[in-house]
Amino acid sequence: MKHILLLAIGLIFIACQPAVVKNDQADPARHIILLYTNDEHGWMEPEATYAGAAGMLALWKKEAGEDSLEHLLILSGGDMWTGPAISTITHGKSMVEIMNRMKYDAVTLGNHEFDFTVDTLRQRIMEMQFPVVAANIREKASGNRPDFVLPYTLQKVNGVSVGIIGLSSKFTPTTTKPDNVALYNFTDYITEIKLVVPQLKAAGAELIVICGHLCYEEMRDLAPQAKALGISVIGGGHCHETLNETVDGVTLVQTGSNLKKYAVVDLWFDNIADTVISIHSRMQSNTTAEADSSLQKAIASQRQSMDIGLTEVIGYAREKIPGNSVEMRNLITDSWLYMYPQGQIAITNTGGIRQEIQAGNITIETIFGLLPFQNSILELKLTGAQFKDCLTRDMVIGGVNMINGELLNSGGTLHADSTYRVLINDYMYSLPNRKFKTFDPKPYDTGILYRQPLLDWLRSVKTDTGNPLNNYLDQQPRR
Ligand SMILES: [Zn+2]
Repeated sequence: MKHILLLAIGLIFIACQPAVVKNDQADPARHIILLYTNDEHGWMEPEATYAGAAGMLALWKKEAGEDSLEHLLILSGGDMWTGPAISTITHGKSMVEIMNRMKYDAVTLGNHEFDFTVDTLRQRIMEMQFPVVAANIREKASGNRPDFVLPYTLQKVNGVSVGIIGLSSKFTPTTTKPDNVALYNFTDYITEIKLVVPQLKAAGAELIVICGHLCYEEMRDLAPQAKALGISVIGGGHCHETLNETVDGVTLVQTGSNLKKYAVVDLWFDNIADTVISIHSRMQSNTTAEADSSLQKAIASQRQSMDIGLTEVIGYAREKIPGNSVEMRNLITDSWLYMYPQGQIAITNTGGIRQEIQAGNITIETIFGLLPFQNSILELKLTGAQFKDCLTRDMVIGGVNMINGELLNSGGTLHADSTYRVLINDYMYSLPNRKFKTFDPKPYDTGILYRQPLLDWLRSVKTDTGNPLNNYLDQQPRR
C-alpha cells in the first residue's frame, strides 16, 4: 500500500516539475537498500550488549539517510517468535505489533511460526501489515498451497519492481510440534522456485530475491540454480549462522538470531537496461545507545501487559512439590519430551530449578520463578556410550532410566552404539568442562526456552482441585 501511495505522490511531483522527469530519466541507476533479519525469536527488548528492536529501528533510520524508511526493503527469514516471555506469552502477537511498527515489507515462515498451531498462525497473519511468503508449503490433501500464505510478493522499491520469493524449511515437520503441520508437505526448494520465477517475471519483476528459512548449506546448494533463474540475493535463517558471502554470483546473508545483527545489501539497479549494476553487502551489529522513542514506548507497553499476564492461573497442586524432589525433576524433563516428541532423552541442570511449586493455584509466574533463566533447548545427536560419558551428578534426566538402562518412551534398552536425539539446555551444553561440544559441535537450537514445555504441558492437562498436578507425578528415580 505504501508503495502505491509513494507512486501517487511521485506522479504529482512529476506533473509539477517536468525538469525533474528529465533528470530522472537521464539517470536510470536506482538505489535499493535491502535490510535483512532472521530468527528474531521475540527479542524486542534490549539486553546487555544489544539494543533490541527500538535500537535497530534507530539504526535503520540512519541507513535510510535523508530518505524515509519507505526507501528501504525490509525482510525477515522467519522464526519471529518463540523466545522470551514478552513474545511467548502472547503467542507471537506482541512481536507482530513490533514488526509492523518496524515496517517490514515481507517475511517467510520459520518452523516456530507453527508452534502455537496453524489457527493461531492464521490469526497472527491477519494482524501483520506485511505479506507472508512461502512457495514450498503444500497441503497434503490437495497439493495446493495453503490459503494463509503467498508464494511470492511483488513490491515497488525506488521505482524497481522487486519480486520476493519465500521458502520455509523442509525440516519444519520435525522442528515444530509435528501435529501442528501434519496437513502440510514442505516441498523441494528448487522445484518451487522454478515454478514461481516465470510467474514473477511475467508479472513484471525486474529484480528477484529469496527470503528463506534456510541454513548455509541449503543456501549454498541453491545458489547456482538461483543464479540461472536471475535471483540476486538469498536471505537465510533457522541455523542462527552469521554469514555474508557471494556464491556463484548470488549474495547470501544470514544474521544470527535475537535481533543482535542485521544485514545491509546495497543494490544499484539500472532501470533502463534492466540489470543489476552492483551489489555490496555487510553485517551490522545492533549496538547503539539510541532508540526509536515511539517503538520503545510500544515495547514498554508490551512489558506491562506481560506482567499482568503472569498472574494467569494455568494449573493446581494439592500438595507442595519441592524443587529438589525426584517428582519435580521428572516433571520438567518429561514435559520437554512431550513438547518435543522427536527427542528421546532430555537433560537439564539441577541448578536451573530454582523454586518449589506451592500447594494451590499454579500461575505462569510460578513457572517463571521455578525456571527463571533464558536458557533455550538444544538438540544433539549422541550415541548411548557418549551420553553415559557425559553423565554428571548435577544432571536431571528424562526419557531414560539409568538404573535399568531402559528408554522410557520406546521401552527399549539404551545401546552404546545407537544414536539418540538428546535435548539439553544451552547453558549446560556450553559449560567448558563438559564433553557435549566435543561429541556434537553443531547442535540444533530449537529456540524453545527451557520453561516453555512445562507451561504448555500444564495447560494441556488442565489440572484443578478435582484433578491436581500431584496425580501426574512420577516418583521413580532414574539414576
Ligand atoms: Zn527455525
